[in-house]
Amino acid sequence: MKKVTLIHYGELSLKGRNRDLFEIRLKDNIEAATGGRVKRFRGRFVLNGGNPDKLEDIFGISWFAEALIVDKDLDSISRVTLDEVGKRNQSLPSFGIYVKRSDKAFPYDSVETAKIIGNQVVTQYGLKVDLKNPGLSVFIEIADEVYIYFRKYQGLKGLPVGVSGKVLSLLSGGIDSPVASYLMMKRGCTVHYLHFHVFSENEYVKNTKMAQILSRLGKFQKEYTLYLAPYYLFETEMLREINTKGHELVLFRRFMVKVAERLAIKNGCKALVTGDSLGQVASQTLDNIAEVSSAVTLPLFQPLISYDKQEIVDLAKKIGTYEDSIVSYKDCCSIVSSNPRTRANRRYIKELEEQIDIDNLVDKTHDLISVYKP
Ligand code: ATP
Ligand code: MG
Repeated sequence: MKKVTLIHYGELSLKGRNRDLFEIRLKDNIEAATGGRVKRFRGRFVLNGGNPDKLEDIFGISWFAEALIVDKDLDSISRVTLDEVGKRNQSLPSFGIYVKRSDKAFPYDSVETAKIIGNQVVTQYGLKVDLKNPGLSVFIEIADEVYIYFRKYQGLKGLPVGVSGKVLSLLSGGIDSPVASYLMMKRGCTVHYLHFHVFSENEYVKNTKMAQILSRLGKFQKEYTLYLAPYYLFETEMLREINTKGHELVLFRRFMVKVAERLAIKNGCKALVTGDSLGQVASQTLDNIAEVSSAVTLPLFQPLISYDKQEIVDLAKKIGTYEDSIVSYKDCCSIVSSNPRTRANRRYIKELEEQIDIDNLVDKTHDLISVYKP
């Protein structure tokens, strides 16, 4: 008898090469996170060793269970089941046995196996059978090997990080953008980050809450790059005598995505990500979001666009970024936004961008970007 962790993944829509990519990536991600060794079988993985608790944070897993591998004969299955039920038998109201037989060479089908073993449990322990709401569930899978387990842990679902390609996420210190980044990982993206800060040197960001937020996100994607960009060149332009007519926030957002696009293309990221939610604040009206999107040609993903603030907060708490996100931090937007306009005027934006020589600002800021290695 051997203890392993059985891992099932969602594979229904996967075919051919995609399925191979999915499986190989998921296997690598599991091994990197748990430190164990994964063996691939049809539709499932078996993890030997490592820390199975880490599986809770890996995208692409449907569910997992700590399982016993037993010899493929009815006597062994029955002996182990009775032993294990015995260990858990204190004051159990009822039990249910669920058998799945994919190895058709096994001489008893799933109904027969469940019946035989179920009767033995009833005889030995006097437990009641209840398949709808059992006090103890016993799962027996007869496949390449025989697995017995008692509890299924839900996985995060989604796609393994890395199968969908790279994106660049604009990460502020707020609540939303870490959640948006997480949701892109859920769809299989490798997420890298770009953060604009108010400091004079990139390295001052190291001692801020940004490091904590990133380490929380690192649970779901271990390897990532954080790019740091200063905001002072843009700020200096804003301090000149320019009448922005309430457009500075949209200008700033357009400036950020333009810098981000430059960086993304250079580093093979195929899309940009922001934490916008429609109508949440003045800069996130449909008109303003449209003006920001039209500043770039790369796709700009906003996975939170339809989320209510409370839904985002709940998810941030679940992910573990919420507590760090609410720590106070000097962020660029609080300086820029005095009285933002809800309907940006496209023609005026173009005029303003000429006045501040936006292309030059983007170039120069792009040149000041450095990489922060956590
Ligand atoms: P968040 O909680 O993510 O900061 P928010 O509701 O505060 O979002 P805004 O401040 O308007 O909204 O920012 C909208 C989006 O713009 C953010 O979700 C983020 O993707 C991006 N963003 C804002 N500030 C920065 C920054 N300093 N660096 C990088 N990206 C930023
Ligand atoms: Mg913000």
